[in-house]
Amino acid sequence: MSVLLSAPVTSLYVHVPFCAQKCEYCAFYSEASSGELISRYTAALVRELELVAADLKPATVFFGGGTPSLLTLRQWELVLKTMERQNLLGAAEFTVECNPATVSADKAKLLRDFGVNRISMGVQSLDEKLLDRLGRVHSREMVFKSFDTLRRSGFDNVNVDLMFAIPGQTLDIWRATLDEAMALGSEHLSSYEVIYEEDTPLFHQLQAGEFDVNEDLACAMYDELVDRSAAAGYHQYEIANFARNQRAGEPAAGGLPGGIPRLACRHNVNYWRGGSFYGLGPSATGYVRGVRTKNWANTQLYCEQLEKGNRAVESREELPPLRRAGEIAAFGLRMNAGWPFADFRQATGFDLQEHWRSEIEQVTQRGWGRVAEDRFGLTRSGLRFADSVAEMFLR
Ligand code: SF4
Repeated sequence: MSVLLSAPVTSLYVHVPFCAQKCEYCAFYSEASSGELISRYTAALVRELELVAADLKPATVFFGGGTPSLLTLRQWELVLKTMERQNLLGAAEFTVECNPATVSADKAKLLRDFGVNRISMGVQSLDEKLLDRLGRVHSREMVFKSFDTLRRSGFDNVNVDLMFAIPGQTLDIWRATLDEAMALGSEHLSSYEVIYEEDTPLFHQLQAGEFDVNEDLACAMYDELVDRSAAAGYHQYEIANFARNQRAGEPAAGGLPGGIPRLACRHNVNYWRGGSFYGLGPSATGYVRGVRTKNWANTQLYCEQLEKGNRAVESREELPPLRRAGEIAAFGLRMNAGWPFADFRQATGFDLQEHWRSEIEQVTQRGWGRVAEDRFGLTRSGLRFADSVAEMFLR
């Protein structure tokens, strides 16, 4: 089937696999790398964008990583001009992830000029010792300075990423970080519990008994996050994501239909709702018309493939409809809005209540889920266990 027979895909993710240095907890595909490889990657990405452009009309674009803000002005210019030539600009939401150590006024202006209208800033902590502990390359002062630079460059939609349950983090430190981060007045907040991924230095330290995991403390921190963010005017719409309904200075506004705040990350909502998206760059996954692709998680190989004129796809898998529906059920239940039955049927062709009847009963009996007239969703305590719920719903 020619891809041009269908409506173009409206969501684009681009993975930038470089960081200034590797954080202690990180299992994303990224490496601290040389200028030469970054230039080669940029040229390869330009080719990959050209290869998929005819099938894309992005409403949302997300450059993640890695550290996209590590690309130089010239490299960004090359990528953005390619997007301009290929009619890939003009997305309603265009997000770039930034590390506070690599934000400059020139770069912010360039991004803004090409239509980037949302920045996601990886802050993780505002405690110097914990930033050190995590191997972050930036200081707390850099966070405040970069946030100011972004605001002065016209960014009125900024996400701040935080992390909790960090070894050595007390409840008081977490409260102070939350309060300081929210005082910045960002439109969006994401906050994840530390995960001990195999083959990360933090995982090896845990294995070696250098610290213990305190599950009760992690729960208390999550409760602080949910309560304090609500008191500061954020609306939780997914386990780890909180957004306002209006920017600073705008009149108070209600949320979008389905209980989603206006400044929620639309790109991620599309993902959790099972929508299609292209994923470009090393290690990126994509999901287009029932087919999941995964690019080579090897930047050299990625570049070689694109230099030969090929997409750099390592695997392609057409998912059986029920299996995909199970995944979509699991993703969507991460959201506070849960799954409206009609939306789930429209997204997957399956009836949630019929095919997952016993799972819904089990989750409800445990106090983790609630069935309403038009939807099924997780309770506040259930959201903490969304990963276990997800496993139950997979097929
Ligand atoms: S900056 Fe982000 S992607 Fe890079 S090593 Fe740290 S956590 Fe991983």
